[in-house]
Amino acid sequence: MKKVLALILAIAMIASVAVLAGCGNSNSGTETATKDETPAADAGKVYIIYSDNAFAPFEYLDTESNTYVGVDMDLMAAIAADQGINYEMHNEGFDAAMGAVQSGQADAMIAGMTITDERKETFDFSDAYFDDGQVIVAKEGTKMDDLNGKTVAAKTSTVGGEYAESIKDQYGFTINYYEGSDNMYQAVMTGTDVACVEDFSVIGYAIKSGEVDLSIISEEPANVKGYGFAVQKGKNPELIEKFNAGLANIKASGKYDEILAKYGY
Ligand code: GLN
Repeated sequence: MKKVLALILAIAMIASVAVLAGCGNSNSGTETATKDETPAADAGKVYIIYSDNAFAPFEYLDTESNTYVGVDMDLMAAIAADQGINYEMHNEGFDAAMGAVQSGQADAMIAGMTITDERKETFDFSDAYFDDGQVIVAKEGTKMDDLNGKTVAAKTSTVGGEYAESIKDQYGFTINYYEGSDNMYQAVMTGTDVACVEDFSVIGYAIKSGEVDLSIISEEPANVKGYGFAVQKGKNPELIEKFNAGLANIKASGKYDEILAKYGY
């Protein structure tokens, strides 16, 4: 009896070591994650996933490794490893990602994308994996009243743009649209625009890292909602299911917290 117990224990230990080893292998930062031991109907399919390219800490170019890194990149890699999803990541910008999914050129996108009712008309979303809202950002000392008669920068196709549209009459500004968050910050720092609209965590990260010398001038983040992984409405339902299952698993395993902690959360 004791021998049997010892044997069971030994097997359990080997199994847990194998699981741990598997965890350590999660290939954060690489572009393709594969796991081929689970044969499924869609085995072998390589999903094309689009993302933003200058939206730290969710996705940004790490100049040392010359690869895109960030919360979304690591979450996708960990979920793909957990669920046996094969994919190729294309970091092309937010508007490009929206267009690629809508045209069917991409299977999905993960890009700090806010889940909204309006977007649900053309996209299907995963469960939310992060919550954020928008703030107004300007040079230190600028007040919301200083926006009157000036231009404010917003990013094409984002909820930040929608937020700017919703308050522009109240504050008396007009909007200049930019493709990238980096271009938007530059426009404010050089004085082309008096302020810009950005997701709170993203501009918070840029300010903290010293990348931008700007301050948040609005009070609370507006329209706080979840970020989701998205597919074209009605397409690739299995991918949403797997993403949700993988997300639940990496939350349970602690991997999700580990990824957020890596980027300062
Ligand atoms: N969360 C914002 C949106 O979904 C911005 C996303 C982004 O710029 N990558 O519109």
